[in-house]
Amino acid sequence: MHLPIVRGAWLAMLLCLAACSSPARRDDAASLPPSTLLLVSIDGLRADIPGSGRMPTLDGLFAQGARAAWVNPSYPTLTFPNHYTLVTGLRPDRHGIVHNDLKDAALGRFESKKASGRDGRFWGGEPIWISAQRAGLKTATMFWPGSEAEIAGGRPDHWRPFNSALTPDQRVAEVLAWLDLPAAERPRFITLYLEQYDVAAHAAGTFSPQAVDAMHTIDTALATLLRGLETRHLRSSTNLVVLSDHGMADVRTSDTAYLDDVLPESMFSWSSLGPVAHITPRAGLEAEVARRLIGRHDHYTCWNRDTLPAAWHYGRNARIAPIVCQSDTGWRLQLRRHPLPLQALKGEHGFVPEDPQMRAFFVASGPDFVPGVELPAFDNVDVYPLLAHLLRIRAAANDGTLQTFAPALAPRADTPH
Ligand code: AMP
Ligand code: ZN
Ligand code: ZN
Repeated sequence: MHLPIVRGAWLAMLLCLAACSSPARRDDAASLPPSTLLLVSIDGLRADIPGSGRMPTLDGLFAQGARAAWVNPSYPTLTFPNHYTLVTGLRPDRHGIVHNDLKDAALGRFESKKASGRDGRFWGGEPIWISAQRAGLKTATMFWPGSEAEIAGGRPDHWRPFNSALTPDQRVAEVLAWLDLPAAERPRFITLYLEQYDVAAHAAGTFSPQAVDAMHTIDTALATLLRGLETRHLRSSTNLVVLSDHGMADVRTSDTAYLDDVLPESMFSWSSLGPVAHITPRAGLEAEVARRLIGRHDHYTCWNRDTLPAAWHYGRNARIAPIVCQSDTGWRLQLRRHPLPLQALKGEHGFVPEDPQMRAFFVASGPDFVPGVELPAFDNVDVYPLLAHLLRIRAAANDGTLQTFAPALAPRADTPH
């Protein structure tokens, strides 16, 4: 029990650690008591799933750890923009991964799941593994969007090319093997990325038997991870942050709106379709394309990129096409003459971040957290300053705030005076 004044002073010091500390010397963070930070992402797991009785291990963390009512994903509610926001604290507009697929005037096309997705020139800002390395900490990524690219001059000390065939249990085994490395090589920051729920929910629906199976597989792997920490006597010195990038909604393949019903394909080019379409008018046709497209249509809305809703913090990055179209929840945007057949989908995300179905979850436990606290909802840009705080390193410039977590952060002995 803390006297309010003591707690207030401590909070001020705590917040100052993120906001006003000078850069950590190379050995500062490395020389502090060895705590480990594990960042786990369960892609697409909606905020209403943890604590709902479907994933006993995650439910246990949820009951005992510090959790958020929910997390607001950044716009657009897609995997790559949001995972990279989580590790940089920057809105997609600022870190440059403005969509899973985009076009850059100088660099050309970026396709997140192809070779160009591993080209470091597309990835702006400073991911937390680079921030940690700058402070002398070893880092490892068991997959994470951006982790395969050389960004800001480096990569995690240990990383793997994305391989969907690796099961959650195999990924956990790799994480535990990293924790068994000799102290000098052992990573102090580790990510674990799990896409099995996202894949199953897209294919079969948010609560389909396949999606529920994926929840179980993931939950079993989480149990193995916790057991592995316990047998290594690392549980009490490990901060565990488990979260998702966005939620998921059920959709019907037939709920597709066609942009070429409104204007002929010859009048524009596109760099992405789906729930969020980026449209560039052909030269000389800007006014005509805008006249036909900007505004409300059946099942979607289009904006000039500089008049998008302010709450989305989106539209200043040059990679965002002049016109952005956003479908209503459940719908997606396509072309009738699209070269690829329409992919059958039962679940989808990419809908407006204000839709409760797009909400992500957050739970954390470990020595730096007060158990059992429920934080009000926050924007996912706040996660990066939290990670920097947990690693006891200086955060790079970012769009988030550590203040969000003040009620959930335990006082600690090494807070600087
Ligand atoms: P999406 O649902 O289109 O936003 O993207 C999520 C999917 O991207 C996941 O289900 C994975 O299959 C895939 N994915 C995730 N991380 C990577 C990565 N690092 N490299 C390639 N593909 C990835
Ligand atoms: Zn995702
Ligand atoms: Zn997805």
